[in-house]
Amino acid sequence: MRRFKEYTVNQYLELLKNMKIDREIKEIHLHHTWRPDKKGYEKASNKESVIYSIYKFHTESNGWDDIGQHISLTPSGTVWDGRDVNMDPASIKGRNKNALAIEMIGNFDDGYDKLEGVQLESLVKLLKGLFNIFEGVKLIFHREYSKKTCPGTSIKKEELLDMVNEKQYPKEISEWAKDAYEWVVREKISDGSDPKGSVTREELWTMLYRYHQKQYGK
Ligand SMILES: [Zn+2]
Repeated sequence: MRRFKEYTVNQYLELLKNMKIDREIKEIHLHHTWRPDKKGYEKASNKESVIYSIYKFHTESNGWDDIGQHISLTPSGTVWDGRDVNMDPASIKGRNKNALAIEMIGNFDDGYDKLEGVQLESLVKLLKGLFNIFEGVKLIFHREYSKKTCPGTSIKKEELLDMVNEKQYPKEISEWAKDAYEWVVREKISDGSDPKGSVTREELWTMLYRYHQKQYGK
């Protein structure tokens, strides 16, 4: 029987980083399963059997060689592996070459499931990781090349990309420190990274020095 493995997003990205991938990945395709929806997945006592039934449908009804997607993202924020990453997916007709396909489990058309909480956080983390691993890769929604609404009418590509590209503050910045954070980054006194990290003496000297230079020149 075809088996599948479940990972956290971090585990999966680690695995991918260490994998020998001998085809070029230029596009990440995003889909939703529609069926099963989130409830359908959540109520299954054996989660692997849900992925297996997608596999059965893809191989038996659709006649594909294997499950269509490389990655399935669950409502609890974990991912299941799928088709070998070294193989093209069965994802979007005419665009499968150089693609990596993700199926989000749920029905994200307006009025049905919401992409939120851990599933949304995991998707953002996953896409961030994939953008890092496959430099220059583009995010493609299924509906851009199809009449379908996939990955769901409630999901807006621009909003998702803003989250992936961190237009907001890094999550760890305390409310009371935000003005100072904006200022040190704007004034190039610090790059703003690692907000809770401790400061060495030389780093403090340098920050004071940069500030002094700004105020008074050399
Ligand atoms: Zn789709």
